[in-house]
Amino acid sequence: MKSLTRRNFNTLTAKGIGGAALLSSAPFACAMGNNQDKNKLGIALVGLGSYSTYQLAPALQDTQYCYLAGIVTGTPEKEQIWADKYEIPEKNIYNYQNFDDIANNEDIDVVYVVLPNSMHAEFSIRAAKAGKHVICEKPMGITVAECDAIINACKQAGVKLGMGYRLHSEPYTQQVKDYVKEKTFGDILFVSADAAYRSAGNPDQWRLNKKLSGGGALMNMGVYAVQSTIYGTGENPISVAAQEFSTRPEYFKDTDETITAQFEFPSGAVGNISTSHNFNANAMYASGTSGWFRLQPANNYGPLSGETSRGDIIKFPHESQQKLQMDDFARHVLFGEPNKAPGEMGKRDMIIVEAIYKSIAKGGETIALDFEPGYGFGG
Ligand code: NAD
Repeated sequence: MKSLTRRNFNTLTAKGIGGAALLSSAPFACAMGNNQDKNKLGIALVGLGSYSTYQLAPALQDTQYCYLAGIVTGTPEKEQIWADKYEIPEKNIYNYQNFDDIANNEDIDVVYVVLPNSMHAEFSIRAAKAGKHVICEKPMGITVAECDAIINACKQAGVKLGMGYRLHSEPYTQQVKDYVKEKTFGDILFVSADAAYRSAGNPDQWRLNKKLSGGGALMNMGVYAVQSTIYGTGENPISVAAQEFSTRPEYFKDTDETITAQFEFPSGAVGNISTSHNFNANAMYASGTSGWFRLQPANNYGPLSGETSRGDIIKFPHESQQKLQMDDFARHVLFGEPNKAPGEMGKRDMIIVEAIYKSIAKGGETIALDFEPGYGFGG
């Protein structure tokens, strides 16, 4: 945003004030032909891999409250390609070394960290220190301590922090949350969730390298299954017990292949998840005292699909989940609207991930979890 100094603007918006009032006197120029709309938040993508290339950058061509203003890449060849494709000025292009200079760039309001998991904490913290709002991809970090460090850095800098949990912005997940909240199918007694795909590509990819990924299927896909059990019950779990299975150790040398886990919830509901890099699965199912609902698929880029015991087919018009997610975060920054996927949600999931690994290390022992009610729930 150029009409205000960035630091003033961030300070105002970090306090949840200012955006609506300021922008009401500077109406959105929605019909501008390119992305240089100064009344939208400028986003810089850090890491131009497949998610940035095929999902986030295209989605940012359709967002209403933010646009692709800059890039941060460690691959010099990508600079010109992206500059040409998205009309990104040279002054908004950074590498990992000069990234901190972004503090002086008024075009950039939000830094979106889309790097391998082990790099999320470093770049989220550097972004916060540069005075930029932060969107951090999942998983938030590779340890709970990293999640704490990111949350603290954003608090100290007075910037907003959101997770790249796109499902919280799309309507099928919202429908599930509404069913649970309104007890449409009574009290939820059981929830199951599966999030998995078969990995058979390059065995040297970072997702199979523990130093870069922090873990295998659980870190990558498991967080979706964990999340499904939480919004499928409306509660955080009070315990977890988990098991690990390995059938292709020659391929999965360093990271978990398949994990199952069982949860208990404060209401007495129980949950079961599977996550894997060895098979395909993408579903959630919840059973209550007066019926059930399911989503299948439940966690890909959509369109998702669902049905209920009443015979409803859950169907919504398809929109880019990433577009919805980034506009939700921009509205949070600009207008103080609720943060649908706050940093605490990322931290909560990492606490659960660590508990699952701990249970496996202890031969499937049940590990107690102790969250404040609603901890990490988004608005
Ligand atoms: P990718 O492998 O396609 O891209 C990774 C990027 O990081 C590349 O541009 C690469 O050059 C860069 N990089 C920098 N240092 C690296 C290193 N040491 N090793 C490997 N790459 C390095 O990965 P991706 O699929 O784009 O995933 C990036 C992040 O986004 C991950 O945290 C992933 O979990 C997350 N993601 C989220 C979703 C979602 O739906 N929310 C979907 C896909 C990926």
